[in-house]
Amino acid sequence: MKTMRRTKDKNQNKKETKHSSLVIRWVSIVALTIMVSFVVFSVVIYSFVGRQSIAQQKVTSNGMVVKLNDSLSPISKELQIANVVPALTPSARKIMQGDPAINRDDHKSNAFNDDLLASLTNPDLNVVVYNLEKEDVFDNGNGNSLPPFKKFKNDYHMEQVHRGHRQELLTYQKVRSIRTGKVTGYIVVANKMSYYNGLMKNLLKWMVRISLIAIIFFTFVAFLVVYDIVKPIKEISKVAREVNDDPNSTARIKDFHRHDELEELAVSFNQMLDRMQRYIEQQKEFVGDVSHELRTPVAVIEGHLNMLERWGKEDPEILSESINASLQEAKRMQHLIQEMLDLTRAEQINVHYPNEITTVSEVLQRVVGDMAMVHQDFKISLDMDDLPQDTEIQIYQGHLEQILVILIDNGIKYSTDRKQMNVSAGLSQDDVQIVVQDFGEGISKTEQSKIFNRFYRVDKARTREKGGNGLGLSIAQKLVTSYHGQISVDSVEGQGSQFKMIFPALSKQQAVVLRKRAQAEKSKQA
Ligand code: ADP
Repeated sequence: MKTMRRTKDKNQNKKETKHSSLVIRWVSIVALTIMVSFVVFSVVIYSFVGRQSIAQQKVTSNGMVVKLNDSLSPISKELQIANVVPALTPSARKIMQGDPAINRDDHKSNAFNDDLLASLTNPDLNVVVYNLEKEDVFDNGNGNSLPPFKKFKNDYHMEQVHRGHRQELLTYQKVRSIRTGKVTGYIVVANKMSYYNGLMKNLLKWMVRISLIAIIFFTFVAFLVVYDIVKPIKEISKVAREVNDDPNSTARIKDFHRHDELEELAVSFNQMLDRMQRYIEQQKEFVGDVSHELRTPVAVIEGHLNMLERWGKEDPEILSESINASLQEAKRMQHLIQEMLDLTRAEQINVHYPNEITTVSEVLQRVVGDMAMVHQDFKISLDMDDLPQDTEIQIYQGHLEQILVILIDNGIKYSTDRKQMNVSAGLSQDDVQIVVQDFGEGISKTEQSKIFNRFYRVDKARTREKGGNGLGLSIAQKLVTSYHGQISVDSVEGQGSQFKMIFPALSKQQAVVLRKRAQAEKSKQA
């Protein structure tokens, strides 16, 4: 026993863990989504900023190369220290020599200007001029090591290289003499891109930091949100388990005070449990009622058979009496079984007769006519003055007939001296109203609320005499409500009863839709 309980507990724990795994799964998904979004976002931003920044650095390097080339291309001979240094630094020398007269407008005769000096002193740019033998003839001294010379095909070449964790931009330019067009040397500009490298490093650092903070923050928020959702689900499943273990359990989900779908779910779930338990209860009652109802005819038949066995075999009078009585009881049983079947079927209307349409006046005329024919001692009147002839309602006509037969039959069964009944029908707004009125024994106020219950009879013995099982009104009510109608009773004891039904009338369009659906259903079945 103990081990069994332990396994049960274990199973329950297992189920519990499954719920917490839902939290983990949801939170992981949220965290992963945020992480991926941040990574994608960071990559896009990083590469965009990187590309913009590199483009700027390229402009700086190119500007340097162009300025140098402009200064060196007037030299016709191969580039040497002797001709490069004066070409690049004449003014500096003049300044050092104390000559203030710098002819700023004379750009053509002297390629040097302040701009070049400013560029050469840019600590990011390491400028080297090589001669044809690849020996350096000029170096602005901004690098620890000179950028290596590299063979390149065209006059101009640019490449981005890695130096440790840093990126460098190398620009190569062949210097051609303006006069001869021959190559006189090479310019190599190495751009250390300190701003770019610093910017990218910082950007990366901040992006990682922000991403980490965002992931932690959003994961925490996601956890709170998911936990908030999972908690009620856990509560719902706990109640479901309790009811599963004990179908009679009164456990219900507490009010979540959330005003959202989960609260709706909880309310529906509670309603479902109530309904389920009501069904179970009704089912139990039904089985009890049925066995109780069947016990009497079976006992009567058994009694007669016993009597026959003991004395009846030789006595033709007892024999015939007992056989007749048994046959009558068998018939009653058959009737009871048929009514019970009708009652069960009345609960499945929407499955079997979803699109049926009936013209009310036709059915009323037929049923009232038939009943008047069978009970000729009765005067059954039919008043349809307020009912347009083509008024239709959504009901299977066999069922409307059945309801009317039950009500008229009851009126006749429970009649007194006044052998009269009135059946009337009318259309008011969108409702069809059918009233079956008798002037019989009537029903007291307290009984009125019970007569629609299964197997309920006001006077059991008398009703049994009249062949009633107490199922007629239950069947009628089930049928009426299954077709979205209502049935009610108004009665005064000793004066008579009035049973009123209300059905929603079908508009022309609704009737067309239902007919089409019925047609489609029929062709599908064929
Ligand atoms: P039954 O088959 O016994 O008539 P019903 O469900 O039709 O079962 O009716 C239940 C009980 O309600 C009847 O036993 C009867 O006592 C009472 N009842 C029903 N209809 C009428 C009526 N028109 N007048 C008086 N009593 C009625």
